[in-house]
Amino acid sequence: MGSRPIVSRETLTLIQLREETLEALIPLYGPAESQALFRQLLSHFWPNWQIEWLISRGEALFPPYLKPDWQAALRRLLAHEPLAYITSEVEFLGLSLAVRPGVFIPRPETEAWVHGLIQAFSSTPLRYILDIGTGSGAIALALARAFPQAEVYAVEKSPIAAETARENAQRYHLPLHLALIPFGEAPLPSSWPQKWDLIVSNPPYIPYAAYPETELRVRLHEPPEALFCRDIEPTAKILDFASKNLNANARCVVEIFPKMVKKLISLCHDLGLIAQIHKDLSGRPRTLWVQR
Ligand code: SAM
Ligand code: GLN
Repeated sequence: MGSRPIVSRETLTLIQLREETLEALIPLYGPAESQALFRQLLSHFWPNWQIEWLISRGEALFPPYLKPDWQAALRRLLAHEPLAYITSEVEFLGLSLAVRPGVFIPRPETEAWVHGLIQAFSSTPLRYILDIGTGSGAIALALARAFPQAEVYAVEKSPIAAETARENAQRYHLPLHLALIPFGEAPLPSSWPQKWDLIVSNPPYIPYAAYPETELRVRLHEPPEALFCRDIEPTAKILDFASKNLNANARCVVEIFPKMVKKLISLCHDLGLIAQIHKDLSGRPRTLWVQR
């Protein structure tokens, strides 16, 4: 970080703010991502900045009262903290969701497969949907909005994530049945449906052995119990549950770790499940779709 404080000048024009911010961020993030971070951060702190920039050609003063918050945000970015934790917001399929440290940040890759899933089920009547490990509620809430006739249930073992999912459901007035339980260790509430039309999950799936290859931003700041696991354990529990609790013609869709494809297909075979792997736009195996 050097000895100079980040963004050192007393008063700054927007152009100067950009110069100083990029100078601080580029060594860590490179030019393109630093530019994007600058714009996103400025929109967060000062939603009107673009019009001010246009009118003044960048010579408008950055409001001095925002400077301490700006410096604090830069310090967090320089410590590899994800932007979503700094702004406390993330977009997921048109929903603007609250997130906070301790809650997994929903990924664009997940957004993409959930979008595909919504299209695939657009003409299928779904009654009961279950999301296992709902985190911020991203998948469950996107499905609740897309399928208003369905009842959406979600389980989560982290209290802070469950609280965040509840807050996000309220934000959009979406009905969500949420249980704070460790799936696979405690039964689902007895008042919940016994059979499901759709089970979805983005479980922890990075095997501990892949920990060193995981991005610093993820490793240092996101909750490890949302990400890392022993072998295929969480997914195996979900598939076992699906083999017993899916309705006829129902599907279970789970985000997966690409290197586990063979193991997962073989497990599905043992459980008597029909399995299909779906790839993402980059050609990487991304989800496992199963049916009885
Ligand atoms: N579904 C969210 C998403 O895609 O953004 C969160 C996915 S995150 C990779 C996995 C989530 O599962 C975390 O919120 C974690 O706390 C939760 N989790 C992990 N093990 C669990 C268990 N046994 N029972 C319930 N939730 C669990
Ligand atoms: N895709 C996430 C990542 O690479 C991992 C998500 C998960 O373990 N479910 O950070």
